[in-house]
Amino acid sequence: MLILRVLNVVAPAYFLCISLVTFVLQLFLFIPSMCKDPSATPLLSPALLHGALFLFLSANAVGNYILVIQNSPADLGRCLYSNWPEDGSSRSPSGSTGPSTHFCRLCARLTQRHDHHCFFTGNCIGSRNMRNFIMFCLYTSLACLDSLVAGLAYISAALTLSFANPLAFLTLLPHSISQFFSGALLSSEMFVILMLYLWLGIGLACAGFCCHQMLLILRGQTRYQVRKGMVVRARPWRKNLEEVFGKRWLLGLLIPVLNVGSDYHRQKDK
Ligand SMILES: [Zn+2]
Repeated sequence: MLILRVLNVVAPAYFLCISLVTFVLQLFLFIPSMCKDPSATPLLSPALLHGALFLFLSANAVGNYILVIQNSPADLGRCLYSNWPEDGSSRSPSGSTGPSTHFCRLCARLTQRHDHHCFFTGNCIGSRNMRNFIMFCLYTSLACLDSLVAGLAYISAALTLSFANPLAFLTLLPHSISQFFSGALLSSEMFVILMLYLWLGIGLACAGFCCHQMLLILRGQTRYQVRKGMVVRARPWRKNLEEVFGKRWLLGLLIPVLNVGSDYHRQKDK
């Protein structure tokens, strides 16, 4: 339990550090290095286009990150369930709650349609913030892959390397480590090379997680139900999608907004 509590603090701090480093590298290293291209017209310069794309991706990632935290699943009344079973099972003392209700000991609250506890946001993911969570994973993955491409362009220009052969990326790390210790490589360049592998790892992990989560949503399942082996009522996949993404799903794809059209919020408004 102590390890989980520490992880709950360390993981958001890790996320914020990586985001900050990515911002600094993009704004002060990658984008200025693109401005040096003399052939480009000022309006359609690669630096401007890339800067706009990166700002769009990162604004969506950070905006959805904030919305996930702000819309953590509602506290269904922890005073009422103070005699909750310690193992965190979904049996309620009064037997009145739904099958996917779960008491999270880290958040110290009861959440409805619980999916999982996300350590990077330090919050539970449930019906209220599922859409923002998916968007957060998607845009984090895209921002990482964008930084990876920009970083590769920067490194290939700085070290006059070509990445046309995919094997060049695999041998980049061992080569650069040996060059770094022989003094042929600047520490800033070594740092960018290490970040390239981190972006690739985070980008692929987020993309994989996002795809798995989408598959569960299409089936109408939550991660919690899968773990507990619960059987879900079969419903058309369109209904399942609409429950998570709401009617204004297209708007939610482009800007970080709340899922106001979902059943959950409609019930709450009544
Ligand atoms: Zn939680």
